[in-house]
Amino acid sequence: MFVEEERIKQDMMQVGKDLYNKGLLVGTDGNISVRISENELFITASGFCKGRLQPEHITKVDFNGKVLQGLKPARDIRMHLAVYKERPEVKAVVHAHPPITTGFAMSEISFDKVALPEVLFVINSIGVTGYTTPTTIEVPMEVARTLQRDKECQALILANHGALTLGTDVYDAFYKLETLEMFLKATLVSKMVGNTRYLNEDQLQKVDLLKKGADPDEVVPPNRAYGQQPNEEMVRFITSKVQEILKGML
Ligand SMILES: [Zn+2]
Repeated sequence: MFVEEERIKQDMMQVGKDLYNKGLLVGTDGNISVRISENELFITASGFCKGRLQPEHITKVDFNGKVLQGLKPARDIRMHLAVYKERPEVKAVVHAHPPITTGFAMSEISFDKVALPEVLFVINSIGVTGYTTPTTIEVPMEVARTLQRDKECQALILANHGALTLGTDVYDAFYKLETLEMFLKATLVSKMVGNTRYLNEDQLQKVDLLKKGADPDEVVPPNRAYGQQPNEEMVRFITSKVQEILKGML
């Protein structure tokens, strides 16, 4: 085996362990794949715990799904192949069932409004698929349709199922899955607290410029930054309120 292929398998095993240890998947759930050449990929074999992967639990297949080396591949292989066919630049795909994300996947959701700009830097946008019957041809077809509809998205929520993230390598796909779960955990808390503050057009435009590589000091010139000239009256009011609260706590 090529040294590079060995390294990729080790990375997949590490990511499997991280996904399992962080509770982003349980039992033998989920699957991980990495494109290793123009026409070949590694994908986790069917039926093994991702927290305890061994090199022999990673199967080499071609882009028609034919096994080139190893055990029976994950049942979701057609879903992974659909991503690679739709997005030639993608090098790795992680599929898992993070509990908070999967909870959102069980509800009617849309992500037209954004409340957390940092998320846009990592996953651009979140695609949401329609419901599909697990392991059937509906799954890859719907995944492909969703990726065509939202050309930018790097993370998909699979209705009534789980999540799928796309990466430049297996760690990148894993980090995006973590970001997705963190974002939805924060969203859940915000919904419980109430009055979620979404970004307005101007704020979204600024984030978009930064994503395209603009200089932060040009997007918001330091002399025109919010809070540059604090409102003295407001500062006095907040300070007095904080003192009142602290007094009450003593
Ligand atoms: Zn699944």
